[in-house]
Amino acid sequence: EDGIRDQPRSRGLGDVYKRQLQLIVMGPPGSGKGTQSLALATDIGAMHISTGDLFRHHERSATSLGDQIQGFMKKGDLVPDHITIAMLKDKIESLPDGKGYILDGFPRTLNQAISFDEMLTAGSSKLDLVICIDVPERQLEHRLLRRMICAECSLVYGSHVGGEYDEYCKNCGGELQKRVDDSDKEVIGHRLKKYLDLSLPIIDHYQTHGILHRIDGTGSVTEVTTAIKRVLASTFKGTLSFNY
Ligand code: ADP
Ligand code: AMP
Repeated sequence: EDGIRDQPRSRGLGDVYKRQLQLIVMGPPGSGKGTQSLALATDIGAMHISTGDLFRHHERSATSLGDQIQGFMKKGDLVPDHITIAMLKDKIESLPDGKGYILDGFPRTLNQAISFDEMLTAGSSKLDLVICIDVPERQLEHRLLRRMICAECSLVYGSHVGGEYDEYCKNCGGELQKRVDDSDKEVIGHRLKKYLDLSLPIIDHYQTHGILHRIDGTGSVTEVTTAIKRVLASTFKGTLSFNY
């Protein structure tokens, strides 16, 4: 095989390989993709790449891409594939060779998944694992209505602290805001329905390739992180540069 999975980057003490993972974290809006991806990325030294965060950054900076995508995002529609795939490709190509990453919110269509496969094959690289976080629909609206994000660094917050919203980010001091697409129950419903319609073929696709792992996302943030780490530890036992 020619994939990243089989290429240890360097050897540490003993026979523990130091190497980087290339992961996808999937799940419906509000399932905890951002929260978990960030925790994992910090732990395993991978880059957290959220297409939603990248798009919001373009919106805030009023780039021409930002102008193009604003309408889609506000309504809870997906940004067209050709725009999304081009942006993701640029981002991946900007990483140092072999750098690990966690994709959060991509792919969202089968077409995106297949284009990504082609991109990886062209770069003689491949995915290590796809984690799908499952949370029942009835819990998602509740989470999304309460979500706040930092306008500066995109850190995600889980609503109340003592019944009050925090005003500023504990990470960077930026202002906490509500996302426009989290403010309207109809838009939230539309996003959830889109996920239900479009995710099954993607899940099938990765299941067929034998790299999909489903995780129960209804526990606490720490419980879900532990469950994901357990999957990583059992899948990549003895080949990782970090300990679980
Ligand atoms: P996604 O990236 O999948 O849309 P987020 O990570 O932004 O989801 O989480 C959505 C909201 O739910 C946030 O307000 C977050 O703090 C909260 N949240 C995340 N994980 C959990 C969890 N395990 N239990 C309860 N709330 C959670
Ligand atoms: P997220 O932050 O992942 O909830 O994404 C917010 C919004 O960004 C989505 O509702 C879409 O409008 C857009 N978006 C993010 N990722 C994608 C993607 N892979 N394909 C299309 N649109 C996306």
